[in-house]
Amino acid sequence: MPELPEVETIVRCLRRRLIGLEVENVRVVFRAVVRNRKASFLKRLIGQEIVGLRRRGKMALLDFSGGLTLIVHLKMTGQLFCCGCGAPFDKHTHFIISFRNTPHELRFRDVRKFGFILGVRTAEAERTRELSGLGPDPLALDLPSFLDRFRGRRGRLKSLLLNQRVIAGVGNIYADEILFEAGLDPRAEVSGLGRQRLGRLWTAVRTVLNEAITFKGTTVRDYRDGEGLEGLFQNRLRVYGREGEPCPRCGAVIKRIRVSGRSTHFCPRCQRR
Ligand SMILES: [Zn+2]
Repeated sequence: MPELPEVETIVRCLRRRLIGLEVENVRVVFRAVVRNRKASFLKRLIGQEIVGLRRRGKMALLDFSGGLTLIVHLKMTGQLFCCGCGAPFDKHTHFIISFRNTPHELRFRDVRKFGFILGVRTAEAERTRELSGLGPDPLALDLPSFLDRFRGRRGRLKSLLLNQRVIAGVGNIYADEILFEAGLDPRAEVSGLGRQRLGRLWTAVRTVLNEAITFKGTTVRDYRDGEGLEGLFQNRLRVYGREGEPCPRCGAVIKRIRVSGRSTHFCPRCQRR
């Protein structure tokens, strides 16, 4: 599933291509990807200009003139990208926005169809069910605010990193990579971690997520950036997907276990409780 670095990469890509363009047409090919009760809400975008692209957690937000916003969640296999208007599209392309006097268009493609699009008034976006429960962006938190997010909570470290209400944007791949970088056991109880260890976690969150953004995200299968290209960070993963391989730091064998129901990769020597 695309996580913070992948969605950030897409948003940055699309920002370069789409800002200032005027919507010529909106085509909903597969109705079920649109969460609005009336798909006609999206017709209001026609004639409006794209004025901003931003990210909240793992969601991309497209802001239009006229006070309208499109919230896009890619979930498992969703892709949001620009391509030439004449480029062939397959049965997995569910939503298309074309622009006036522009040879490229924006497409939403999703093989498994768990992703969604929701059109809202910009002023109401933060109050939607989709956004209102989200915690802050981990890259926007200074150390004291980060410590506050974890203070007084209970649960395993990995589960809290994945909890979008605590911080928004981290998923299974980066949780494993962050905990390896920090040298922390994914099964550790958060309430038992002192300020020093949580400080190491804060540093690791920033290091790993920023590096993954620099390398345009991780393509395991479906993820593509805003121009349809694969990411490069999959070549730099140190524990995720590397079960049975030697730890790049100490040489011990990387193990895969389940933590709170989620598949988890870690080095049993570098990440001791
Ligand atoms: Zn190790």
